[in-house]
Amino acid sequence: MLDSVKHVILVLSGKGGVGKSTVSVQLALGLKNKGFKVGLLDIDLCGPSIPHLLNIENLDVHQCPEGWVPVYTDSSQSLAVMSIGFLLNNKNDAVIWRGPKKTAMIRQFINDVCWKDVDYLIIDTPPGTSDEHITVMECLKEVQCDGAVLVTTPQAVSIEDVRKEITFCKKTNIKIIGLIENMSGYTCPHCKECSNIFSSGGGKSLAEYASIPYLGELPIVPNKEDILGLDSMQSILTRLTTH
Ligand code: ADP
Repeated sequence: MLDSVKHVILVLSGKGGVGKSTVSVQLALGLKNKGFKVGLLDIDLCGPSIPHLLNIENLDVHQCPEGWVPVYTDSSQSLAVMSIGFLLNNKNDAVIWRGPKKTAMIRQFINDVCWKDVDYLIIDTPPGTSDEHITVMECLKEVQCDGAVLVTTPQAVSIEDVRKEITFCKKTNIKIIGLIENMSGYTCPHCKECSNIFSSGGGKSLAEYASIPYLGELPIVPNKEDILGLDSMQSILTRLTTH
């Protein structure tokens, strides 16, 4: 039930492993720290990593008369999380489903979860443009979706694939809030010199070329918790809440 959700933001990437789930989690935590009530929906049915990233793998989803109660990360109930990871008997179970079953599950995640009074619902999607993306777009037709945040790494192969996400957004009429270049350089904790391990500037160039907003870059950090403290992350959060 999205009736009481004020903003919906999709997080998309062309490739897996570029940090889409990490960015989704950090965006959700950052918005929570700013005092918003946040929902985080993981529709990566075959590779759900949100419960692991938030260290809440052992928590369970409950039923209430209205539907499913999401998992809350703490007693303040300001971050609600839903993922298929909470529904598997064993975290190593593989979800081997064809399109219609995936579609039904995502519809349930959107329509049957009590997303009560959520200011921002962040939806972490699987890589690519497949059943999950098409279904979520259909479900969001009736609600106001703010748009999509695209995540890439600086490597050419990831940049190439994010172009397909841009095409997907244009074809399905999703507004692109902007592009984040993740794992963009590494700052040595000793000498503070930044090394662009892969390459640099690809995300910004693509954003300029495709005429979409560039939200900024997030470096490689040994502790993901440090991402929230970065100036670039704070400016991304400001862009999300004021776009
Ligand atoms: P995706 O959702 O795109 O498949 P993940 O968020 O699961 O990617 O990230 C893939 C791996 O990269 C994870 O091990 C994650 O901890 C790591 N990672 C992501 N972003 C960063 C970063 N900025 N710095 C360091 N490690 C990162």
